[in-house]
Parts: sequence; structure tokens; C-alpha cells
Amino acid sequence: MSEENATLSSSTGLPSASSKPRYEFFKVIQKYIDEGCSVVDVPEYVRTILSQPKNEIIVNFPVRMDDGSIKLFKGYRIQHNNLLGPYKGGMRFHESVTLDDAKALAAMMTIKCALMNLPYGGGKGGIKFNPNSVSRTELQRVTRRFFHALGANIGPETDIPAPDVGTDSRIMAWAMDTYMNSVSQGDKQAVKGVVTGKPVASGGTLGREKATGQGLVHCITEWAKDCNFQLGGATMTVQGFGNVGSHTAAILSKLGVSLIAVGDHTGYLYNPEGFNPYKLQEYVKRNRSIDGYPAGKKVGREEFFKIKADIFVPAALEGQIGIEEGQMLQVRLVAEGANGPCTPEGEKVLLDRGIDILPDTLANSGGVTVSYYEWVQNKRSESWTLEEVDERLEKAMKRTYREVADMARDKKCSMRLAAYAVAIQRIGQVYAEREIFP
Ligand code: NAD
Repeated sequence: MSEENATLSSSTGLPSASSKPRYEFFKVIQKYIDEGCSVVDVPEYVRTILSQPKNEIIVNFPVRMDDGSIKLFKGYRIQHNNLLGPYKGGMRFHESVTLDDAKALAAMMTIKCALMNLPYGGGKGGIKFNPNSVSRTELQRVTRRFFHALGANIGPETDIPAPDVGTDSRIMAWAMDTYMNSVSQGDKQAVKGVVTGKPVASGGTLGREKATGQGLVHCITEWAKDCNFQLGGATMTVQGFGNVGSHTAAILSKLGVSLIAVGDHTGYLYNPEGFNPYKLQEYVKRNRSIDGYPAGKKVGREEFFKIKADIFVPAALEGQIGIEEGQMLQVRLVAEGANGPCTPEGEKVLLDRGIDILPDTLANSGGVTVSYYEWVQNKRSESWTLEEVDERLEKAMKRTYREVADMARDKKCSMRLAAYAVAIQRIGQVYAEREIFP
């Protein structure tokens, strides 16, 4: 069978980077890791180990659809590295999911967790299908069969999935429940931490839903301090208005940054007066997209990228900012909410034009950081207050921002490379202490 699922493919029809020749995302991440190893000069074997994932799991599983038919789905789970702790990373339900992308995203998680000093390795997975094209009951059966098929490959001390594109807290609740039903009665409560990003009542943590956006905003405020840039009165454009994009826009708006353009898989909207991100968030929750939102003017993708603003937040998919988009953007800062939104060529154009980039592994690491807080609370049967979660996250983000900025200054390299270097230095130190088995 090919990489495609036997079912459920639809196209957005949008002119996006995804319609260009296939973007070799894993190769890009392998190169960043390679370059990061050179910056901090770790032994050759560290570079070799990190160049490939430890495990690549592919499961094909049947699901009964509402009309009685049975369809076969293909799911992936990539476990990149678990030197520092259990594999950790999101599950993506999207029609663009490929093995290659999951490998890239899992490797990025190894870097992100090491960078944030979390006791986790890196993992990622997903199913290639459009979750909006199935009913709620079908979505639940797809989720449960997928997590059941993964079996003992995941677990609170083994590999801990979380939400990503196309998945949310509701899906994590089904995933946790499925896993709980596969262990003995006495162990059920002890395995709540098998996934993070759960609804709060089901063992999630306060502050997780907004965590990635909140972390991104902490990085943006640090950047603004460094550049003497006033956030009050500034403008932003946001691509992708799901979890990351909407929370980033809402939190930044509290600091006086106006959302003047926004886009998702259905198209783009422009409003020089500024959108109310909270109202738009509510609308998207009800309608699953910005399509039909009764404010702003419809614009094309190209026009969107040309809009003059202070901050651009890509919060959709990888490979969205290539050379062309890099030339079109008229902003001071690209704050990467998404994983891998800039291609290396796009990044070079931006940096040559003097546009700063807050790189994904640093900028969007608030999500996995608060996932870690959730996991710790599950282990200890505790519930932290929102203030406690927010305070810890703020400290963690600001401390890591400084480490990356210092590395970039010392090594005279980009913030992206500096983030890889800080993470790889940490991983290299642990390999040096533990050495290689046997
Ligand atoms: P989501 O599913 O909540 O939202 C994704 C958004 O992207 C939606 O608005 C969707 O319409 C839009 N989109 C999809 N295809 C598009 C296209 N072709 N053009 C324009 N927009 C498109 O997902 P999310 O959780 O917000 O994740 C977004 C990005 O952030 C991903 O790269 C993800 O890996 C990354 N990320 C997420 C988290 C998290 O905690 N959820 C943490 C770190 C990084």
C-alpha cells in the first residue's frame, strides 16, 4: 500500500507551499542537527546517533465508518531519541502527514526537550487523513483504534503523545481512556500521564491549552526588550488560527499588538483596523475555520504575505516561507509558532533582509514545557493553580531565550543554530557521562 490512506483525502485547493515539489523536511532537520553538532563540537558519534530516529512505527488499522463500511488507516509514531527520558511529542491528524515529516518533527522534539531541559526525548506521530471530513463518532473510533494499535509502544514512562495539528484535548481524553482500558484495573489511575494536553477535568493541567502561544509571547517580549521595540501599538499577521495562532494573537493583543491579517486552510482576511482575536477564536471554535467571518476583506495568499506589519506569526504548517515568501514579507520579526515554517532558503532571505527570526525549537516550546508540568502533576496526583503554571513557564521561557541569545552571540550564529547547539551540548554531555551500551 502506498503512503496514502485508503480513504479520506480532500484538497484545500489553496495555492500553498504544499503544492510545490515535496519539501524534504527531515533532510532539513538532519542538516540543522549536523550544523548544531559542529557549533558545539560534540564527538562524532553524537552526530551519528542523532541523524536517525531510534524507532519508526507504522500501523495499519481498520475502522468501521458510520455507513457500515470498513476503511483502513495508516498511522505513524516516530521515536527519535530517549536519552534524556521518555519520547515526547504530538500526534497530528492531517492529510499532509508523511513518514518523512514525522521523522523531522520527532527529531525537532528531541532538540526542543533538551533545549528546555526537560527529562524527555523526542517523538512525533499521526494519521494521514482530514479529521474534519469524518463524523465525531468516526473520529473517536479512528483515535481509539490508532492508540490501541500502538499498544505498549506508548506509555507514561515510554512515549507520551500530545495534541498537534488536527488533534485537541478531546482526542487526548479518548487516547488516555483507550490506554487505561488496556492496563489492569489497579493500574488505571497510574497511567493518566500516557498523554498530555488532556481536558483539565480528565487529568489535564490549567494553562496547557494556551501554553504554546503563551511561551511564544514570552520570547517575543524578550526579543522586544533586546531590540528596544515597543509592542504597544505594533501590528501582527498570523497564518494558522488554531491552537497556537489564536492563543498567540489573543495574548499579544493584551500587550497592545493589533491583529491586522489572518489566514487558515480556507483563505486569508485583512483588516487594517484590527480583528478582535477573542471573537475570531470563538467563531473558529464554532465553525472550524475563519471562512465566513463577518469582518475584514478577503485577500489571496500572496497579498497576505505582502502586508506590512511588525510581527508575522506562522502557526500552520512547515515549509510555508520559502524564497518568494521571504522576499514578500514586510515585517521586523518572524516568530515561529509552527514547526519548520521557514525553509532554509526562506530563512536566508529573511536574515539577509535584516528580519529577525525566533526559531521554532525555542519559540513554540511552551507547549511541551506545560505538558511536562501536566505529567508531573499526574505522577504526584497534584493540581497546580494557573498562576503556578504561568510563573514556571515564564521563568523557563525567559531563561532559555537568554541561553539561546548568549550562544548566538558567542558563536556568531543564527538563533536557530544556537538553539540546536544549546540542546546538543546538553545531549552530548549526557552521552559522554553514560557512554554507549554495551
Ligand atoms: P491546529 O490544528 O489547532 O491549527 C492549525 C491551523 O493551521 C488551522 O487554523 C488550519 O486551518 C491552519 N492550516 C492548515 N493548513 C493550512 C494551509 N495550507 N495554509 C494555511 N493555514 C493552514 O494546530 P496547532 O496545534 O495550532 O499547530 C500549529 C503549528 O504549531 C504546527 O506546526 C504544530 O506542529 C505547531 N506546534 C503546536 C503545538 C501545540 O501545543 N499545539 C506546540 C508546538 C508547536
